[in-house]
Amino acid sequence: MKFNLESLENIYANKDYSRNFAHAKKHFSEFKDFLAELSVNTINKTRIVYRATTFMYGYENNLVISSKEDGTYISSYCDCKFHAPYDPCAHVWMLAKYCVENEIEPPFYFKDENSENPNVFFEKKKKKILLNFILALSFKNILMTQSFISI
Ligand SMILES: [Zn+2]
Repeated sequence: MKFNLESLENIYANKDYSRNFAHAKKHFSEFKDFLAELSVNTINKTRIVYRATTFMYGYENNLVISSKEDGTYISSYCDCKFHAPYDPCAHVWMLAKYCVENEIEPPFYFKDENSENPNVFFEKKKKKILLNFILALSFKNILMTQSFISI
């Protein structure tokens, strides 16, 4: 049975003012690129458990959503600092929405072997910052040389 997105959205104490809900909607279009691993299984014939690992903006996060067999939301967990029981983090809503849109049902397993590890992401970012710093320095030198000439 398809996950019932509305039953998750009803959990938010105040959807209109939730930073997490706003973030989830804002970044949903990027979610598929950040999904590193996803498994969906039926447990004890009564629950459906969605487990995922995401690599978003250099952060690795692991999350779990469980629903009843009819797709009704039961609970969720995520190791990011924004997750709370009555204000599920952006990862949770995005994963649920992704499963609904792609009609993902148990048993399901996906792993993106090419998914970029967050540490690799940070190394690249550091190199880019360093390169920009060097460029800025040499640009400053050019400016100083020019002002020296103009004197
Ligand atoms: Zn999260």
